[in-house]
Amino acid sequence: MQQIDSYRHKGLRSRLVQELVQKKIVDKSVLTAIGNVPRHLFLESSFIKFAYQDKAFPIGAGQTISQPYTVALQSQLLEVKPGEKVLEVGTGSGYQAAVLIEMGVKLFSIERQSELYQRSTRLLRELGYQGRFFLGDGYEGLPAQAPFDKIIITAGAPVIPRALLTQLKVGGIMIIPLGDQEQVLMRIVRINEDEFEQEEIEACAFVPMLNGVVNK
Ligand code: SAH
Repeated sequence: MQQIDSYRHKGLRSRLVQELVQKKIVDKSVLTAIGNVPRHLFLESSFIKFAYQDKAFPIGAGQTISQPYTVALQSQLLEVKPGEKVLEVGTGSGYQAAVLIEMGVKLFSIERQSELYQRSTRLLRELGYQGRFFLGDGYEGLPAQAPFDKIIITAGAPVIPRALLTQLKVGGIMIIPLGDQEQVLMRIVRINEDEFEQEEIEACAFVPMLNGVVNK
């Protein structure tokens, strides 16, 4: 893979950042992170020229890299502060992970498809993004690493996974696309040990959150 980040790429990125500002992304740390992460390196080479359009693209294994707007919105809704422990479900290309690591969080990310897990962890390591990456089923979360300040789910979940709710700190925020074919992006706040507050943000479309690990 050609790992070049040229002035042209940087220019396209700052245009993308302006587009996100127009779409009401206001969190400076999110915009700075998107301005810094070389998204073109996270795509299959044939799509490189589209890397800085605000669109989702295939990344192999039937999956997609989320649209930059979606990555920005989810990151903004998480209200992360540097040093917080964040769990991501669905590492995919690793792009959302890189954005969160740029924002200074301690990132833990789970992917169920071994092919994507291997490719994205290698790329993130090569680019110097430090996080902890796991091949596993996001429905189970990471009990040994819990609790988390924030949890971000980047696949459409038919239900809110119970295990993930229990792995969220009191006061913590979970951002989850909820629904089967189409989803509503939900923001869930853990009020205390037993209570959660839910808010609907907007309609969205993610690939489905599936059970089990795919080893091939
Ligand atoms: N955050 C990714 C988005 C990838 S699409 C990015 O920035 O590119 C969603 C990903 O979630 C896919 O890679 C899919 O394999 C993964 N996924 C789906 N169900 C999962 C589960 N139960 N556990 C972990 N990953 C899952």
